Amino acid sequence: MSTTADAIRSADAHSAHNYHPLPLVVASAEGAWMTDVEGRRYLDMLAGYSALNFGHGNRRLIDAARAQLERVTLTSRAFHHDRFAEFCTELAALCGKEMVLPMNTGAEAVETAVKTARKWGYEVKGVPDGHAKIVVAADNFHGRTTTVVSFSTDHDARDHFGPYTPGFEIVPYGDLTALAHAVTENTVAVLLEPIQGEAGVLVPPAGYLRGVRELTRERNVLFMADEIQSGLGRTGRTFACEHEGVVPDVYVLGKALGGGVVPVSAVVADRDVLGVFRPGQHGSTFGGNPLACAVALEVIAMLRTGEFQGRATELGEHLHRELNLLVGGGAVTAVRGRGLWAGVDIDPSRGTGREISEKLMELGVLVKDTHGSTIRIAPPLVISKEDLDWGLSQLRSVLGA
Ligand SMILES: *Cc1c(COP(=O)(O)O)cnc(C)c1O
Repeated sequence: MSTTADAIRSADAHSAHNYHPLPLVVASAEGAWMTDVEGRRYLDMLAGYSALNFGHGNRRLIDAARAQLERVTLTSRAFHHDRFAEFCTELAALCGKEMVLPMNTGAEAVETAVKTARKWGYEVKGVPDGHAKIVVAADNFHGRTTTVVSFSTDHDARDHFGPYTPGFEIVPYGDLTALAHAVTENTVAVLLEPIQGEAGVLVPPAGYLRGVRELTRERNVLFMADEIQSGLGRTGRTFACEHEGVVPDVYVLGKALGGGVVPVSAVVADRDVLGVFRPGQHGSTFGGNPLACAVALEVIAMLRTGEFQGRATELGEHLHRELNLLVGGGAVTAVRGRGLWAGVDIDPSRGTGREISEKLMELGVLVKDTHGSTIRIAPPLVISKEDLDWGLSQLRSVLGA
């Protein structure tokens, strides 16, 4: 029996089956490449859903983590530590905002944004207590907590996890008229992904984000952008909102902020919003810990150079040019996305997204399917053009294109 089959059988026996991973077992990784327990190499074209924007084992990030490991890793927020102020100052500056509230996972940051908006609604906007509403988009993905799945429209994510948290209004994504109708006196926030990742890398119609910005400003509602997957370089900009010249009131960040090393998430906003929190009202034991701050500080410094946004723009144009050549040829029905991020709709006659992903794996390329016949391509931003081209050639051969 192969090492791979053994490892998978034993994982299946003792872990909950809440995922359906591709049948490979990774043992090590570097840059855009992963190596499995049998020594086979794979090009990572998923990058941990953007958590690995800077690649596996990035030297700068590993060095920053190692240096901090030797000093102090955790204090809890009961005490100050010497990386905290620097982290908050730098992250706020990167976002052009005044304050940071650090957490760990993306879902926690979304929860924090929800709590921020409600508290701001009651204490600043003057919404009657218990009546706050937050407007969200259909087909959203914001994480897995009970409150967050309460406003999911995905049956797998939501069903049999009720009773659900009230206070959310769901409107179609990309529809400004529906959004305008949904906003009332008691609306405290609009929470959106600037590009919907899990939904299949859906880019909203041009002008949508600008329209959301204008509407929320006019109606005294917070615009909260979940940039957990779209942000920090992926689309060719630090934030996907920049493509429309839009600055939301609240950034929700995660994934790449932890450099693929540790979970780091944050809510970033101005003082008139995040200033609503007083001691004891919200927190997290691991949020803003020294190791997380050290790694995130290096991530921020790397983003400050603009190098990764530049790579995502340049390689992204190439990726989309190549993928678009496949549209209409019988294998690919549509391609969406921005920067080094693409949702590719495969003609169902060529197989499901899962089948295409498995075939690609056999050829040494790792991607992830999403709903039906869509695959998602999001390689680390450090990928070389050569490797990207090789990955695309493997995709063409799987599709018979
Ligand atoms: C991944 C993701 C989350 C949840 O992050 P976790 O770290 O998995 O909790 C939330 N929002 C978006 C847009 C994401 O892509």
